[in-house]
Amino acid sequence: MPPTDTIVVGAGPAGSTAARELAARGVDVVLLDRARFPRDKPCGGGVTVRCAALLPFDLSPVVEQVVTGAVLQDRAGRSTVRDAGRVLTYLTQRSRLDAYLVEQAQAAGVEFRDGQHVRSAVQLRDGTYELRVAPRSGGGVEDVLHARTVVGADGANGVVATQLGFSHPAERAVALEALLPCPDGVPEWLRGRVALSLADLPGGYAWLFPKADHINIGVGGWQAAAGAQLRPALDAYCRAQGFDPAALVGLRGHHLPLQVPGMTVAADGAALVGDAAALVDPLSGEGIYAAIASGIAVAPAVDDYLAGTTPDLAGYQLALTRELGPELATSRALMEVFHACPEPFAFALMRSRRVWGAAVALVRGETTYERITRRTGPIASTLAPLARVARHVSRRRYGAR
Ligand SMILES: Cc1cc2nc3c(=O)[nH]c(=O)nc-3n(C[C@H](O)[C@H](O)[C@H](O)COP(=O)(O)OP(=O)(O)OC[C@H]3O[C@@H](n4cnc5c(N)ncnc54)[C@H](O)[C@@H]3O)c2cc1C
Repeated sequence: MPPTDTIVVGAGPAGSTAARELAARGVDVVLLDRARFPRDKPCGGGVTVRCAALLPFDLSPVVEQVVTGAVLQDRAGRSTVRDAGRVLTYLTQRSRLDAYLVEQAQAAGVEFRDGQHVRSAVQLRDGTYELRVAPRSGGGVEDVLHARTVVGADGANGVVATQLGFSHPAERAVALEALLPCPDGVPEWLRGRVALSLADLPGGYAWLFPKADHINIGVGGWQAAAGAQLRPALDAYCRAQGFDPAALVGLRGHHLPLQVPGMTVAADGAALVGDAAALVDPLSGEGIYAAIASGIAVAPAVDDYLAGTTPDLAGYQLALTRELGPELATSRALMEVFHACPEPFAFALMRSRRVWGAAVALVRGETTYERITRRTGPIASTLAPLARVARHVSRRRYGAR
């Protein structure tokens, strides 16, 4: 059988978007996921306005809360309420969001196969790729698939990057989340709002994201420094919000991979998108935006390669470096500085009207991290050295991060 044009491994937002964009260009695409759909994934399910704007269809069938404000809290639980009066984020459940994104890909012509676990990926001498795929149930026979191009969209612990020899992110954040059932609806003070709190964790924060009939509650921080403290921090945060930790269900932890400069995300006919390319925003932890943005960015490069007009997918790497690179670098620098600040200063920053205004514009896609810092004049020119000092301070305070 001749090889398929493209196999996309992983049907999260990055994979389904890449697959949909490619199919819309007339490319034959097979989209594989090891899970049976609909499947859930540890995630707050927050889709910012700037993220939703990347999609050529409406997300309202899967939106459970529309967020226009936030309750900002320090570690002692002192809070400030900020309302933007405009939509900031749509809160979804990933099981529903991801299934919906896959449906859109299928409508564009993508062949979706769930319950298919990619075990290995190798590049053959003729430049095409061979993937060995086992049914998730374990019982069936291993399948061997061939493709001219491969898109690795298999998330934070993906196999495609490792199998095809891509370099790995040097740093990971980690988060633990749970669901708090609210059969009578979420509390009034949280409707249309998220709660964001400074957590008692190195490099992290805690959140409440209200959905239709439950609250997604979570804490996150730097993996090495915060990992062992996540569970007690989650329980303490839950209690501080007036909820009983014993009522939490579905506790799940997951990594958030953070890119380091110079990471390779494309070689020959293979590319990585979303978490597989470690594109999570270091300051906010937002990953769905970059997952979808990278899924969109990879399509023209794959299309050109398949048409024989380019020798590899370097165009995707360039596009990503140009469009997302500076944003991730600035976000990382801000994250370093923010987490090195003493708590009262960090909270004063978080609740200041100026920072709130910038955050509103950012999540709505009306500005970028780069423009925000440039507008602050002296901060822009000193941000990089400040971040280096802050990183040093954090390392001394917490050891490995
Ligand atoms: C606790 C937590 C809360 C978060 N909250 C938010 C939030 O509110 N908003 C936000 O924007 N971001 C959030 N993020 C980040 C966000 O979840 C990720 O950045 C996003 O899911 C990345 O999408 P993706 O498509 O790259 O990968 P994923 O969504 O992880 O999808 C990868 C897919 O690949 C499949 N797969 C993996 N290995 C294989 C294999 N070998 N074979 C076949 N299939 C495979 C998996 O089953 C999965 O379906 C959060 C992360 C965490 C951990």
